[in-house]
Amino acid sequence: MGECFICDKHAGNIETSGAVIYEDEHVYVGHIDRGGQPNYLGHIMIDLKRHVPTLADLTIEEAKTFGITMARVSKALKESENAEHIYSFVSGNAVPHLHMHLVARYPGTPREYWGPSEVYDWEGAPMGDGEEVVRLCGRLKDYMEQHAV
Ligand SMILES: [Zn+2]
Repeated sequence: MGECFICDKHAGNIETSGAVIYEDEHVYVGHIDRGGQPNYLGHIMIDLKRHVPTLADLTIEEAKTFGITMARVSKALKESENAEHIYSFVSGNAVPHLHMHLVARYPGTPREYWGPSEVYDWEGAPMGDGEEVVRLCGRLKDYMEQHAV
């Protein structure tokens, strides 16, 4: 085990509930894993493979792949999971290894729960266990393979 959770995950040293959605030389895409707590379905993480903390550290090649991946995963969430909007952010407060959160908002979400963390507070939010996360990841993976660039 190294000192970085995300590097360890990429190396396969950590079990996460979500299956891999997409992976290439620059990025790794998977579902968030809240360590046994129910997951908000459609909270996706795009990790850079290289251990650097911020978007400012991307090479041009990495930035191209990262941007294209953001767009493709967002499209998959809309088309495959019926998301009506996708929130995105980079925090980095917890782990200084660049990862972007993409959080789907689904139709019918009350206005007071709009926002990437607010959606978690909605009682009607689509939460799921590990099996549901794996199925969701499979659907997104299939969509992205069928709509390859
Ligand atoms: Zn790392």
